[in-house]
Amino acid sequence: MKRTKITDLLTATAGQDVRVCGWVRTHRGSKNVHFIALNDGSTINNIQVVADTGKFSDELLKRATTGACLAVEGQLVQSVGSGQAVEVQATSIDVLGDCGADYPMQKKGQSFEYMRQHAHMRLRTNTFGAVMRIRHNMAMAIHTYFHQHGFFYFHTPLITASDCEGAGNMFQVTTKNLYDLRKDEQGRIIYDDDFFGEQTSLTVSGQLEGELGATALGQIYTFGPTFRAENSNTPRHLAEFWMIEPEMAFYDKDDLMNLEEDFIKYCVGWALDHCADDLAFLNKMIDKTLLERLHSVIGQSFVRLTYTEGIDILQQAIAAGRKFEFPCQWGDDLASEHERYLVEEHFHRPVIMTDYPKEIKAFYMKLNADGRTMQGTDVLFPAIGEIIGGSVREESLDKLMAEINRRGMDTTSLEWYLDTRRWGSCPHAGFGLGFERLLLFVTGMQNIRDVIPFPRTPGNAQF
Ligand code: ATP
Ligand code: MN
Repeated sequence: MKRTKITDLLTATAGQDVRVCGWVRTHRGSKNVHFIALNDGSTINNIQVVADTGKFSDELLKRATTGACLAVEGQLVQSVGSGQAVEVQATSIDVLGDCGADYPMQKKGQSFEYMRQHAHMRLRTNTFGAVMRIRHNMAMAIHTYFHQHGFFYFHTPLITASDCEGAGNMFQVTTKNLYDLRKDEQGRIIYDDDFFGEQTSLTVSGQLEGELGATALGQIYTFGPTFRAENSNTPRHLAEFWMIEPEMAFYDKDDLMNLEEDFIKYCVGWALDHCADDLAFLNKMIDKTLLERLHSVIGQSFVRLTYTEGIDILQQAIAAGRKFEFPCQWGDDLASEHERYLVEEHFHRPVIMTDYPKEIKAFYMKLNADGRTMQGTDVLFPAIGEIIGGSVREESLDKLMAEINRRGMDTTSLEWYLDTRRWGSCPHAGFGLGFERLLLFVTGMQNIRDVIPFPRTPGNAQF
């Protein structure tokens, strides 16, 4: 008999014979009858299997422990007590895979820390099932949004010879024998004979290549793995994460902010439309204000304020007695506590912060007429802080070169990028959204390690 997925079974009409396969969530039995809740991952909801003790041996029923994999055939009947409309009255039960008492997901209510140590098995729990289904749905939302808005999905390389932001937080890629490195007189490693003939790393951003796409195709987006070797053990940073980076020709700052806001709202709306059961579960088990927060984000317009205005608000708060761990004078990079103060305590809605001091932003951002601020447009979210980092890009070769020289940057590996400004330069803008930061917001999970199947963080590359 053909297998029916549980998500389809739960809305099917009673009376038919069915075959269902899945893993045992719970099993309780009395003298006459056993109730087995099966889940196959297609939905957060289980199907209840009813097994009469008269029909099945004790020996078989004992094997249907939590985590065991079963194939059940029987009749789909109306249910009185299972909390679902239907249940399966079993006529045959096959144990496809036994599961011993040493199964690490045996007990309910294990801590997330414990589950991270068994990340390969945590996917079978209700919470991680819900999070992974939402993760899939958010990926679909992103592709759908951009496709419908005329963006092209553009693939940028993961291996790169350029260091996008000039930061030294990249993972090196080499085929060199690390036990026997050739060095020059100054003690620098010679890369001539390495695989690519020069030093290469895993990308920290696809933006620079994305700009080449946008200045040819008009509007593109990337959506792929991104790597940062920053040793920051926070609940918001991964060493390997997924980033979405749209880049648009002929966009100015307002166009950019409109896109940032519209895009995020679309994604959150998509989750509410497509993930109702999983969100209801997370709202009940993880965060009772989740649904309310999701609805409120789509219902309100985001605050748009400049960095300078933001600093004023923070300074007023400090004058009124609010304490922060880190300083926030004009010129300081805002810490997550400052961003969250503005969003959660001051405005009570998402904020798009713009026009940052040039000292704290990347070289490629468009300089304002004041000569001291740049047209960045970061989106700050409740519970997360920065979710999007965006900017208008400097399209003038002269101004861009002036900034590069001011920073003392070496342009040898950047000449191809500068060609965008040499030949047919155009105004353009783009942003980067951390996929897992979006998922933190949409799922209500607290730790970024819990919204990606196999997290990579300092000291952890297991599984
Ligand atoms: P933060 O200040 O939070 O470390 P950033 O300023 O370094 O972030 P950007 O370089 O602007 O981040 O990257 C764009 C987006 O990518 C960020 O807004 C965030 O959503 C996401 N992001 C950045 N670093 C990480 C990371 N280590 N893990 C997960 N997401 C990240
Ligand atoms: Mn940023």
